[in-house]
Amino acid sequence: MNHEKSLKMKIKTPLRRKSPLRSRSMKSEKSKFEISEIKTPTRKASRSTLMRKADDAFSVFIRTRDSQAYEGRAFRCISCNRVLPITQADCGHYVNRSHMSLRFSEQNCNAQCRHCNRFQEGNIQDYRKGLIKKIGETKVLLLEAQKNVTNKITSFELELLAKHYKAETKKFKYQIK
Ligand SMILES: [Zn+2]
Repeated sequence: MNHEKSLKMKIKTPLRRKSPLRSRSMKSEKSKFEISEIKTPTRKASRSTLMRKADDAFSVFIRTRDSQAYEGRAFRCISCNRVLPITQADCGHYVNRSHMSLRFSEQNCNAQCRHCNRFQEGNIQDYRKGLIKKIGETKVLLLEAQKNVTNKITSFELELLAKHYKAETKKFKYQIK
């Protein structure tokens, strides 16, 4: 009897302890989540957050624009000219993103396959050829001339850009997923 009792105790004790511990930890996770939810809107968004949001909205706009000929499901890469599923599209900058004067330029940015954008350093020679075909040599030369124009984008502008491109994207007939 004694032995049985002690066995039961051994089994029961950890079971009894576990459940309150678990619910306690769940509670604390939940309250952490609630606190962060409350705090976020009151905290002023950092410049990097605003930049990311503007970049994201602009990227979706460019990829949506360049997939219209394929009903939002595919695109033709500006540099290698392949037609690929839209899920493989990046927003590729001809003059790279570090140049603020052209970071949000609709002519400077085009749907580009991941391979060209990420592994071929933008495949810039073919990008130039593709861009000339798309917008003409004069506009490409103008982009190249604007490359070193100083342009500091304010937080106010970044917020506007994000809003603008979200709204512009919705206007396209075909939306990308
Ligand atoms: Zn490509």
